[in-house]
Amino acid sequence: MKVALIAHDKKKDDLVAFVRENEEIFKKFQLCSTGTTGLRVMEQTSLQVHRYYSGPLGGDQEIGALLPKGEMDGIFFFRDPLTAQPHEPDVNALLRLCDVYDIPLATNIESAKAVLAYLCMKEENKKSEA
Ligand code: PGA
Repeated sequence: MKVALIAHDKKKDDLVAFVRENEEIFKKFQLCSTGTTGLRVMEQTSLQVHRYYSGPLGGDQEIGALLPKGEMDGIFFFRDPLTAQPHEPDVNALLRLCDVYDIPLATNIESAKAVLAYLCMKEENKKSEA
């Protein structure tokens, strides 16, 4: 399962806490992230994360480019809805591609629980089909 982790600055603590709480599950996934988010996750968990550029420097677009190639199963993108982002167009482009390619996208803790449960179910189904 290929999964991306992204969080705006004020949401990084929430994302890291969510990943820590579910570390055993995230361990089974192939993880990538934007630069700073991935660093924080690796510092505070035992997980390995492939880090792309920082979001404002193009990281969201690098992750977006994986979607048309079929290289993404789910995205956890904790957005800060109360702070203007310099790279808003990149953020919107990534969200748009999630809709184009039907990629499950979680933008807050409660939707993250739902997407995580869905990805686990999909993984179990894959195993039982094998
Ligand atoms: P960052 O990027 O993980 O490098 O902070 C996230 C973003 O702002 O899109």
